[in-house]
Amino acid sequence: MSSEVQRSETQSSATQPGEKRRQIVLSGIRPTGRLHLGNYFGALKNWAELQERYDCHYFLADWHALTTDYADTSEVAANTLDVAADMIAGGLDPARSVIFVQSMVPEHSELFLILSMLTPLGWLERVPTYKDQIKQLENKDLSTFGFLGYPVLQTADILMYRAHFVPVGEDQVAHLEISREICRRFNSFYGEVFPEPQPLLTPTPKVPGLDGRKMSKSYGNAINLTDTPDEIRKKCMQMFTDPQRLRKSDPGRPEVCNLFRFHELVSTPELRERVDRECRGAVIGCVEDKRLLAQVLIDYTEPFRRRREELLRDPDTLRDVLVEGSKKARERAAETLELARAAMKLDYSQSALRRQWQSRVAALAGSVGPA
Ligand code: SF4
Repeated sequence: MSSEVQRSETQSSATQPGEKRRQIVLSGIRPTGRLHLGNYFGALKNWAELQERYDCHYFLADWHALTTDYADTSEVAANTLDVAADMIAGGLDPARSVIFVQSMVPEHSELFLILSMLTPLGWLERVPTYKDQIKQLENKDLSTFGFLGYPVLQTADILMYRAHFVPVGEDQVAHLEISREICRRFNSFYGEVFPEPQPLLTPTPKVPGLDGRKMSKSYGNAINLTDTPDEIRKKCMQMFTDPQRLRKSDPGRPEVCNLFRFHELVSTPELRERVDRECRGAVIGCVEDKRLLAQVLIDYTEPFRRRREELLRDPDTLRDVLVEGSKKARERAAETLELARAAMKLDYSQSALRRQWQSRVAALAGSVGPA
């Protein structure tokens, strides 16, 4: 291991000599469109909080977007910039986290190639989301090498930064397992290069869509962080409520009401308590409650919309943030590849080759024996 690489294990650019480096967190998002409240409560909000305690690396997974959208790539770069603006407006701070674009760190592709050599096909075929996604996206031809291999690329993304933690909700722990398996397989062949990434369990409340299913762009039931006040009002009016409450005079049941889940996420405890009481007592009607919730959501997302507008007023500066972040990411990525190549004896530096050559000569001399 070079002295340069050794030093970086205990010291990052943000730390002083002798100060211990914080543990590394890594996560990414596919830039396939505007972020919605489900993305915010399911990921972004936690990511912003983790910046306080960890050395965070967050990336825009544009290569992952290609696994399903390879036939039409015209929107990928613009979406990447769009989602970057969403991420920063949502609380990620480029001064504290490394925010980068996956394809701007081409080292990911080399590690992906190395890991793909040692990943058994059977492991990929049994990933639960593989068959699920093929079924869900049956309008797309996903019988590609890239789609089958996306867990290997995901593993390369994580191991590239020798990340200790990947923030996940409880239902996603299984998704990380294949990366841990590939990591163990590499380390067992070549030596302990990569720490085994651990799931960092973060609270991820279930965010329902307007219709009660999981909020998702593909279901068309999402409230985007960028929706205008009018769009939010319109969407709130479409929200499913307690299906048994047909008239205002019927007592309602907030515990089964889809709309009330949003009160739990964004309303003050006082408002929640009031709506709960007045709904059960048939005092407040659903239309009135929809108007109330719409206003709360408009106020809640207003700072986000403002910050995003400021960022997009100057797209060149936003792009510079990504270029700078990707440059920082490449420094760590290059260190990792140096370690991986050395462990695999694929190191073509003069000193490494000389060492390998000398040990071969010594072995040959040993096998021939004294004359
Ligand atoms: S008043 Fe509100 S909480 Fe009660 S059923 Fe209607 S929308 Fe749901």
